[in-house]
Amino acid sequence: PILVRTVPGTMVIVTLVTIPTCLFVGAKIRENVGLSSELRRLVERDRLTDVATRDFFFARMAEKPEMYGMSLMVDIDFFKRVNDTYGHLTGDKVISHVAAVLQGGVRPNDIVCPFGGEEFVIFLADADHDIGVVMAERLRTLVAESPIDDKGTTLSVTVSIGGSLKQATDDIETAIQRADDALYRAKNGGRNQVHVSPIGNVDP
Ligand code: GH3
Ligand code: MG
Ligand code: MG
Repeated sequence: PILVRTVPGTMVIVTLVTIPTCLFVGAKIRENVGLSSELRRLVERDRLTDVATRDFFFARMAEKPEMYGMSLMVDIDFFKRVNDTYGHLTGDKVISHVAAVLQGGVRPNDIVCPFGGEEFVIFLADADHDIGVVMAERLRTLVAESPIDDKGTTLSVTVSIGGSLKQATDDIETAIQRADDALYRAKNGGRNQVHVSPIGNVDP
């Protein structure tokens, strides 16, 4: 009689404890998988602009240090005025808009990434000096000719772009520094223009 009572009891315990536990653990595993892909997205994409983040940019460049191409530094012109005139939220919208225009204007293997506020760094893979200049000029024109609609108000911004060729033996930091110097010249030259630094170190 004791055995007869124990077997159904065990089955009841199995049903009541094991099945819910399995379901719970399964749900937690699914939740964790979801969380880690969400975390990866947060690390790799910029929240505001949804383009690759600075960390992702350097990680990608570190994977192939010998990568050849043109690095560009892009800075929105007179952006403080946008914030002052239309407010910070509109300013944020303008940054996202410019990011989308830049992202839409490059090839799939190129990297566009926010580099602090209203600046972006772009790597045009395999672009030589002449192709890099043409592509940078195209990006500048695209931004200038893509007005933003903000609740019925149309506003336009321009960008200044500095470029520098990264030879296989250059490190990316050096190329970005040279692009930044060229950007400074584009700003001083009157903004809404592209300046590319003279060809850097030549491969041995
Ligand atoms: P310049 O043509 O010389 O670049 O003029 P600028 O006004 O754009 O000057 P600068 O690049 O030095 O200043 C950028 C301003 O961008 C400063 C800061 O208030 C604003 N800013 C930076 N990050 C953000 C952001 O995430 N959102 C918004 N709305 N504004 C930002
Ligand atoms: Mg700036
Ligand atoms: Mg600026």
